[in-house]
Amino acid sequence: MSSTLIRGGLIVTALGRYEADVLAVDGKIVQIGAGLDVAADHVFDARGQYVIPGGVDPHAHMKITFKGVPSADDFTAATIAAAHGGTTTVFDFAFQEFGQPLPDAMAEWHAALAAAPPVTDVGAHLVIRDLTDPARVDELREIPAQGVTSFKLFMAYRNQFMVGDPAMWNTMKVAAETGAIVLVHAENGDAIDALISEALAGGNTAPPFHGTTRPIETEAEAVTRAVMFAELTGAKTYIVHTTCGPAIAPIVAAKMRGLPVYGETCPQYLLHDDSLLQGGDEGLKGIFSPPPRPAPAQDELWHALAGVGLDTIGTDHCAFPYTMRLERLEEDFSKVPNGVPGIEERLELIFDRGVRAGRLTLEQWVDLCCTTPARLMGLGGRKGVIEVGADADLVIWDPERTRTLSVATQKSNCDYNLYEGWQVTGTPSAVIAGGVPLVVDGALVDQPARGFLARGPAVEAAGV
Ligand SMILES: [Zn+2]
Repeated sequence: MSSTLIRGGLIVTALGRYEADVLAVDGKIVQIGAGLDVAADHVFDARGQYVIPGGVDPHAHMKITFKGVPSADDFTAATIAAAHGGTTTVFDFAFQEFGQPLPDAMAEWHAALAAAPPVTDVGAHLVIRDLTDPARVDELREIPAQGVTSFKLFMAYRNQFMVGDPAMWNTMKVAAETGAIVLVHAENGDAIDALISEALAGGNTAPPFHGTTRPIETEAEAVTRAVMFAELTGAKTYIVHTTCGPAIAPIVAAKMRGLPVYGETCPQYLLHDDSLLQGGDEGLKGIFSPPPRPAPAQDELWHALAGVGLDTIGTDHCAFPYTMRLERLEEDFSKVPNGVPGIEERLELIFDRGVRAGRLTLEQWVDLCCTTPARLMGLGGRKGVIEVGADADLVIWDPERTRTLSVATQKSNCDYNLYEGWQVTGTPSAVIAGGVPLVVDGALVDQPARGFLARGPAVEAAGV
């Protein structure tokens, strides 16, 4: 029996805001109301602050090796970083090796999670690389019943993660049958590989060529193709890390046709442009895929978040060390493992540069970072909401406190911060996960061994 009471905060949900106390008992929200007259093990005075649902990051890579470089974080480190930023549910990716039976891929992922216990709940997306053997398709049908109701497909990185159209078709058919949602990395891998070969043949090896070899057209084409597959198979489809208007337009068109097609973007696309790839070796900070776009794309993304086209904000956190990336750059930009750290800063960045800047409402911030990611990933009513019966993952948010983002203070093991020296106003003063305090005033006060979060299918229908 453990209880936590939050008094006097302004509760902000995706639907609105109101002042009330919140009582959590044994991990669940049990009472919401004004002036609750109850005792509790932990009591927080949240007057003058917001109370929001714990953040849900639908897209992170906490433990991954790519192009031979291992990430600096594991599940423990990455979820500690997430928790400091107010995120209490994080999704990672279990990768199938070529030809690997899918139960084996899931078993390896579970073992890695158990080896470095997370302090937040962790959900899994299963990355499909090879369905050539029909036995794999049968295995895929069994995966959602194991609490993994989302599959991931890459349309880029041939010989690494890229799937061809047959695997995309089969995955989406199984998703449509089982109610799973299909996440798609949408870039035309073959066109990109041709452009990279041309660039390298011309001696163009510096970071800016990462951007010019992955032009907007390659993203827009792949989104269009993914949407076509979604339409023909009926699969719920979620386009990860979209970067610009031309990539979002097919999503908007699909929504208008009533299709369950959704779009995600990430802070690095909202807040950085392609100038990040300039500056000599430093430009390797902009080597993530798709690449940062010319500045006008940022406005397109903000408008799609506030209006129609984009449904969620994830991080695509991927903490490859700067030092190791720099070694790879000695050869050329294409040898640098793509990725950005950022699991900790998402809520603060979007609050400061989105809500405080007048681009999003408070409710939209909660919706995009907490409520809709939870709903689309099969956690509706359980995560991302403040309701009686929901999990007691709650963040007390001080809207006035300012801090400076820096590698010196971040919790990720990564050796750089993509927002080094940026000031943000608005930061968590307390983070409660599973009904107990996890981070208070920037300090980890508990280190629970949480773990795998099993999910049902997304409760979602076209037109909702
Ligand atoms: Zn990713």
